[in-house]
Amino acid sequence: MPLLLDEVEREEVTEAWDELWDRLCLHGETVSAASFAALPRLTALAPARAQALELANAIVRGTLRHPDGDALLAGCPNEVDRLRELVDQRLRTRPADYNRLFSDLLALAGQYHWSASFGDFTDDFYAVSCPGCEAEVTIAVGDYGCYAAIRDWDQGDIERRSLRPAPAEELRDPGRWMHAAAVRDGQQRLAEGIRYVFGHAECPACDSVFTIAEAHTNANLPPALETY
Ligand SMILES: [Zn+2]
Repeated sequence: MPLLLDEVEREEVTEAWDELWDRLCLHGETVSAASFAALPRLTALAPARAQALELANAIVRGTLRHPDGDALLAGCPNEVDRLRELVDQRLRTRPADYNRLFSDLLALAGQYHWSASFGDFTDDFYAVSCPGCEAEVTIAVGDYGCYAAIRDWDQGDIERRSLRPAPAEELRDPGRWMHAAAVRDGQQRLAEGIRYVFGHAECPACDSVFTIAEAHTNANLPPALETY
């Protein structure tokens, strides 16, 4: 591993990067202790090598897939801060792969479940459990509408109720900083999607109104990691 890192530090070698991906983040998701051990060198290389930034971010995104991932990542606080800074700089340039980089930013901020579930808000769906009656509610945010519904295998999304997006000034973190970054970078659709996801939904089964983000977080985080 150190030899491979030596190699990519000297020059851009595609084969060496391929091998580093295989060893440190197989299929873009399988991480090991060695992956986290490589973070300092990858981070140091990241300003000069786009591949290094991409691989380092993929490792951070994989944190929760490793049983000791949290502890291993906690050993690299400076690297995480630096990567977050680099990603934030790249986002300000409004790159073509903005949404993918934005999801890297979310992982670097510890928002793993949002990192994994944000799409581009053209056609995003979230399955949540209503806190009032435990009915499974489908939340849609996209071109087909922004609604809460009951998903019926034959009839599609039925009993649709319009979502109630949070006014920007009422957003709380992490929704607030996510929205601010999207607005700063002119990502109108993303900013709107964030207002919906951090807003309220009405359950079609019991009429109770609940916070989508809270229901989504409960559905996706192990109990020890509830940070919302
Ligand atoms: Zn309900």
